[in-house]
Amino acid sequence: MRAFLIRTGQVALTFALFSLCNALATQFEIENSVSILFPATAIAILACMMFGWWAAIGVVLGTIVTPWSPEISFTTLLTSGLISAIEGMVPWAVFRFRRDISSDLRDMRSLIAFLIFGCVVNTAFSAIAGNVLILKHPAGTYLVWREVYVWWIADFTAALLLAMPALAFGHALFSRIGSDASREQAGQPRTITNAVQILAVILLLGFAMSFAIRVSLLNGLEAERLEQQRAWAKATVIVNRIHDNFLGIETIDENDPRRSAMLAAARRVNDAEFASLEPALTHTSPELMQEVPEVRSLTQKWFAGPQANASQVSARILKLRSDMEAADGKSWADFGRKRARIMTVVGLVDGFVFMILVLASLTLIVNISRPFHQVREAINAMRDGQSVDPAKIESGYLEFRTIAGALAETQAELLRREGALRLQTERALAASRHKSDFLAKMSHELRTPLNSIIGFSDLLAEQEETIDHVKRVNFLENVSTSARHLLHLINDLLDVSKIESGKMKMHFEDVDLRRSISNTVRSTSPLFVRKRQQVVISVPEEPMLVRADPSRVEQILLNLLSNANKYSGEGKPVSVISEKLDGRWRIEVRDRGIGISDEDQARIFEDFEQVYTRGPNSTGTGLGLALVKRFAEMQGGEVEVKSKLGEGSTFAITLPAV
Ligand code: ADP
Repeated sequence: MRAFLIRTGQVALTFALFSLCNALATQFEIENSVSILFPATAIAILACMMFGWWAAIGVVLGTIVTPWSPEISFTTLLTSGLISAIEGMVPWAVFRFRRDISSDLRDMRSLIAFLIFGCVVNTAFSAIAGNVLILKHPAGTYLVWREVYVWWIADFTAALLLAMPALAFGHALFSRIGSDASREQAGQPRTITNAVQILAVILLLGFAMSFAIRVSLLNGLEAERLEQQRAWAKATVIVNRIHDNFLGIETIDENDPRRSAMLAAARRVNDAEFASLEPALTHTSPELMQEVPEVRSLTQKWFAGPQANASQVSARILKLRSDMEAADGKSWADFGRKRARIMTVVGLVDGFVFMILVLASLTLIVNISRPFHQVREAINAMRDGQSVDPAKIESGYLEFRTIAGALAETQAELLRREGALRLQTERALAASRHKSDFLAKMSHELRTPLNSIIGFSDLLAEQEETIDHVKRVNFLENVSTSARHLLHLINDLLDVSKIESGKMKMHFEDVDLRRSISNTVRSTSPLFVRKRQQVVISVPEEPMLVRADPSRVEQILLNLLSNANKYSGEGKPVSVISEKLDGRWRIEVRDRGIGISDEDQARIFEDFEQVYTRGPNSTGTGLGLALVKRFAEMQGGEVEVKSKLGEGSTFAITLPAV
């Protein structure tokens, strides 16, 4: 129901506009003999483009209700209406069925193809239909082929020019009320260059058409004027000869014996000249058409009658000649008026083209300046560090869409770089903090054993006389332990600093991890023996080949084993288990010692991180696991820990198998 109402509204709107234009054009054509049907045709084209074939009904109805003469038959009106409707539907049909040439009217090439195709099809159709079916021109004269072609081409081009800005620039309008095709078209981006090209096409075609109309009309007028001039000259010569004929008779002597023969000859001349005068007066006035037969019968009467008052007849002929001259002058004035009318019509066409151009240019300017402003705003906002949404740049033009896309990318890139920079700064700050912490801890670590060494040495020096042997040995052992601890610490520190500065040299070779395990277990066995801890080793039959630095691998295992020894109670077993997993060798060092809480597990691989504070005799440096992690990673491996407080820990290292 709603769709029906909309359709009816569209037909009614087309009907109203078309019939109004048609009535005005017909009136103008009858009065001025100049056809300006194109606004009506433009309405037919636009309506069909926007509403589809329904609009054709409005066009046919609009033609029927505006007859150009009262005698015109209904059939002729209906045919004429159908021609106008088809003329309106040609662009619609071209657009619908020949998308290949009119896929986007905003593209200049398809626009020109569309124009040419539309003009040729439309003009051929209209010319044939106009000649065969209607035959009679509104002004009353019959059409000839050439005129039909000229007028229909001009009419259709002008109509398209009127419709074109709406097609090319009014896509917003089309996308709201237009057909599916125009809505689809409105979604595609066009370039500013295309829009400017279309403007240029409109301008060129418009003025070319106006020029063609001007030349065609003025040429017609000039030809008519020349023909009339010739006709007047011929008529004047005839009238002069008639007058000379009479003057000759007046000079004949009354007693001349040849008089009657001469009169008869003059009479024949008179009749012949009058016979040729009437057809010569092709562009005459109604007064002259009446006057010529009068003078003719006067002369004939004179030749038939007593032949008196020849001078009176001669005067009447002279008057006819002067009347003809007056009529000639009047026809010149008519030409002037016609010329002025033609100039008015072409002036209107020029003004119309110019108006289209101005409107289209204004639309273009508005459509360009608005997104330009938005782009400037977006850039300013981005410069001020605000987040902008480039999708808000409203423009159908491809150029602005590209700019909006580039802005979006720039913004994303800026955000990404900002994030990376922030991360880098945070890292640098953390590193600097870490360095300070490291220095503080290191001084502390160094001071503790040194204090112990100095303390015991001083004691030895001070109590040299009184100190007994056992005490002295004890003091010296303390000094030695602290010194070894210091050496250990300094060695570890040297390793850390070498790694940090990138100067740690690794000597890669094919290493059988079974050998590394047995070496390490052997070298640490005194520790385990001292705490009565059993070490269980499980290794495969095949060689556990990896590409690594054997001394660093052993250093890793040594740290893990000595930790297992250190942090497990007396008699608690330690096992070293190896297996191959996903192309990597994995060695686990398990103990049943004190274990590490989840929270502490996260930090024990950091430099100087220790879970428990140590006494002066502690052998730990807090650097062991940090070195394990670094060495493992330098050899393409990794280290992980699984532990439960009070139950024991498992440290695992994996290295890629060869
Ligand atoms: P340290 O020289 O103090 O052993 P590490 O870097 O080797 O330093 O270890 C850091 C800390 O991790 C140790 O102080 C200890 O608290 C904890 N830890 C390391 N291995 C074990 C383990 N097998 N069982 C329990 N705790 C451990």
